[in-house]
Amino acid sequence: MTRELVVATRNRKKGGEMTAILSELLGPSWTIRTLSDFPSFVEPEETGATYAENAKIKAEAACRALNKACIADDAGLEIDALNGEPGLRSKRFGGEDLPFAEKIRTLLERMEDAPERKRTARFRCAVAVASPGETIRVFESVCEGRITREPAGTAGFGYDPIFVVPELGRTFAELEPAQKNRISHRGMVLRRAAEWLKGSFGGFCRQ
Ligand code: IMP
Repeated sequence: MTRELVVATRNRKKGGEMTAILSELLGPSWTIRTLSDFPSFVEPEETGATYAENAKIKAEAACRALNKACIADDAGLEIDALNGEPGLRSKRFGGEDLPFAEKIRTLLERMEDAPERKRTARFRCAVAVASPGETIRVFESVCEGRITREPAGTAGFGYDPIFVVPELGRTFAELEPAQKNRISHRGMVLRRAAEWLKGSFGGFCRQ
């Protein structure tokens, strides 16, 4: 019996990351699909007051429209020196169309005077799994780190070039994808979601 799960995001890089992590964790008896198979589906607005609410909104909307089990995430970067900004507004920070290089430049400029000990930050991530007729499940995780003075690295996406993992002394954008996935907020939370999917729900996501 195969099971099917749709990764409900149109963010190509994030979707690629989620698909890679889930395929490895869930194994060959699961088919992981993406929204590229469902071009007419329009993502809902992120109107929630928390990451969990936004993840739920996205997973539920996709599940309702496609009548399939769907998984969605919502994540954000919280910088202590900026009182938690950009936080929930990470995607929209400086305007949704502002390129990430510019978002990063703006953040670093605003932190110019912040000393090392004040450059702490974290990525938060919530993942929601919705399946027709089932109660929605939400998982959350946090990855602690620091903000660099200059961007470094070309891998990953979004704010990866300025987020340093203290144990490795390198930014997310300087890590191999598999290495980032092992320690990242998204990797951690998807491991918990995958364990639950494999374990407790016999009928969940059955094709
Ligand atoms: P959303 O979850 O798609 O709403 O993303 C929130 C914002 O945070 C996006 O602009 C992402 O680029 C950024 N973001 C989320 N996860 C990561 C990550 O793992 N690395 C870098 N940026 C991220």
